[in-house]
Amino acid sequence: MDYAIARRRMVERHIKGRGITDPRVLEVMEQIPRHLFVEDALRSQAYGDYPLPIGHKQTISQPFMVASMTEALQLKGDEAVLEIGTGSGYQTAVLSQLARKVYSIERIGELGRQSRRILDRLGCINVNIRITDGTVGWEDAGPFDAILVTAGAPDLPMEYLRQLVTGGRLVIPIGDRHVQTLTRFTLKPDGKVSREKLFECRFVPLIGSQGWEDE
Ligand code: SAM
Repeated sequence: MDYAIARRRMVERHIKGRGITDPRVLEVMEQIPRHLFVEDALRSQAYGDYPLPIGHKQTISQPFMVASMTEALQLKGDEAVLEIGTGSGYQTAVLSQLARKVYSIERIGELGRQSRRILDRLGCINVNIRITDGTVGWEDAGPFDAILVTAGAPDLPMEYLRQLVTGGRLVIPIGDRHVQTLTRFTLKPDGKVSREKLFECRFVPLIGSQGWEDE
């Protein structure tokens, strides 16, 4: 299988074709080898527009979702970004090419370590990964220009807003355990917070002290 051709087709059909316009996002998604972030048996499916299992009841997000969430962060290239939910590390790799520094938190040790190995192999040296509960953010590394949460939260953990710079964007799925609304919060210069509902989505739950209980 020619992965480069499959990747180009994925970007044309499922990302550009569904309305993503940020040229930097499109370019990076055409470059990052998503097939390296899934197990060997799933590689032939890596450029389909759907999530895939990565073990521990978790998933690598659908490419269109990765593109949409990334575009919603409005990155220009010089930002410090906090990501909650490293998972496979694929979204982390995308962010690493679009921002200055990425701090990513994963609660499942094995996933965090496996991501680290792949990101090292790809030369993503601007990524720090921490294995812990990310619902309280990463205070000593902040404040962040953008925060992306890639698991569904019952509500907005307030600590994220405290770790955002003025003008910073926070993108997070909020809802119940099964269906959420992807929501963007922006911290305004007057200290107010704007809240935009982007679209409906389905993520695995954000589990932790400021999220859902582990079942
Ligand atoms: N963006 C990832 C990718 O493309 O591979 C997918 C992330 S997956 C949908 C959500 C991840 O969030 C899972 O790996 C899960 O273990 C992690 N997660 C859930 N609650 C968390 C928490 N409180 N802190 C850190 N990670 C958490």
